[in-house]
Amino acid sequence: MSEYKLSCPQCGQHIRCTEAHFGRQVNCPTCQKPILVARPKEADLRTNSPPAAVDKPKASLLQIVVISAVAFGLCAGLSFCMGNYYLQQRAQQKDLEQARLKIENAEKLKAEKERKANAVAATAPSTNTVGGGTTSPARHE
Ligand SMILES: [Zn+2]
Repeated sequence: MSEYKLSCPQCGQHIRCTEAHFGRQVNCPTCQKPILVARPKEADLRTNSPPAAVDKPKASLLQIVVISAVAFGLCAGLSFCMGNYYLQQRAQQKDLEQARLKIENAEKLKAEKERKANAVAATAPSTNTVGGGTTSPARHE
C-alpha cells in the first residue's frame, strides 16, 4: 500500500494518507477542516515534481543575467565615480603644485631683485642718491 502526501488548503499542514483515502474526506489534524483527498495522477505518483526541475535553470540564468547586469552597472558607476574622484584629486594636486611653483618663483624673483638692489647699492651708493630725481649737483656729506 503506497502512501500519498497532501497539504491542507487551509493551514498547509502536511497530511499522510493511503490509497484507501482517495476520493474521501479526511479531517485536518491541525485545523480540523475537512479535506477532500483527490486521487493523484499516475505521473504524480511515479515522480515527485519534474516540471520544477526544468524551470529552475531558466530562473537561475535570468538571475545571473540580472545580477551580472546590476553588478556591471554598479562597477561602472563606481569606477566612474572613482575616476572622477581621482581626476579631481589629480587636478587639485596639479593646482597645488602650480601654486607652490608660483610662490617659489615669486620668492626667487624677490630674492633676485633684493640681491640686485643690494649689489647696486653696494657698488654705487652715491649715484643712487643723485639719480633719485633731483638734477641739482648738490653734494651730500
Ligand atoms: Zn488544516
